[in-house]
Amino acid sequence: MKYTKIIGGFVAAAAISLGSAASAADQQFISIGTGGVTGVYYPTGGAICRLVNKSRKEHGIRCAVESTGGSVYNINTIKAGELEFGVAQSDWQYHAYNGTSKFEDNPFPEIRAMFSVHPEPFTLLVRADSGVTKFEELVGKRVNVGNPGSGQRATMEVVMGAFGVTMDDFALATEYKGSEMAKQICDGNIDAMIYTIGHPAAAIKEATTTCDVKLISVNGEGIDKLVEENPYYRTAVIPGGTYAGNPDDTRTFGVGATFVTSADVSDDVAYVVAKAVLANLDDFRGLHPAFANLDAAQMIKDGLSAPLHPGAERAYKELGLMD
Ligand code: GLU
Repeated sequence: MKYTKIIGGFVAAAAISLGSAASAADQQFISIGTGGVTGVYYPTGGAICRLVNKSRKEHGIRCAVESTGGSVYNINTIKAGELEFGVAQSDWQYHAYNGTSKFEDNPFPEIRAMFSVHPEPFTLLVRADSGVTKFEELVGKRVNVGNPGSGQRATMEVVMGAFGVTMDDFALATEYKGSEMAKQICDGNIDAMIYTIGHPAAAIKEATTTCDVKLISVNGEGIDKLVEENPYYRTAVIPGGTYAGNPDDTRTFGVGATFVTSADVSDDVAYVVAKAVLANLDDFRGLHPAFANLDAAQMIKDGLSAPLHPGAERAYKELGLMD
């Protein structure tokens, strides 16, 4: 009797371990590259993973988020096959796909679009005591031009070109990353910072509630020309009152945050991720205030220069968003 029980117990244990080995093999891991933890990309990745993980029992995909240097880093790391997905500015998605600008020697024709997310105005924040009232007045100041790999650093170089300003024109050009900028500007180590970012953003809230800093409009002829000549730029307004101490509208230009992947990622995985977000858009909108105005028809089209991943296309057809 005792002997039989042991055998029975052993058989049952073996069955259990076989069972869990099978489900571990079925499980797939995907990682999303985002940006600094006080930016909007990081919570965007978190919101996407949350919706994917919610239906894990149906598809076996486990989604994780990584804080990274930003757009350009994410695109290059997806290209290297070390990330499956990433958030990237629409201008850098365009250049990666077309092999232009920063991607001239490093094209990524296999980059694929999933959907676009929130608008990202090019945001210039200065210390009130710096006296800066427009972009041109950054000359002679200590300016954080952004960490290499970030979208804002790459876009800053374009904006500097439009205004005919070089790095040597600044008293100091620093490369603090997104999560460090608010502290640096409030500690008085820099006069100005730029961030291409959705609003409201934790990093800008942190600075505007800690010290006296002002959002500055970035406009004029050079910017009008950029917007006219490039499909991925738009004029943008940061509404007055979004941040403490900044009651007036800020006029600037901007890009869109987009969600990208590679043609090497399987159709089934891209389908699951696209469907998790677009089929649950009401839930997604509630996960960050920058998502408040997202619209499904715009998300599957606007700011996407690379072809849609076929898996995403399948999801949108099934959801009736595409013919
Ligand atoms: N647009 C920034 C970048 O491409 C990131 C903004 C964010 O983290 O929300 O690096």
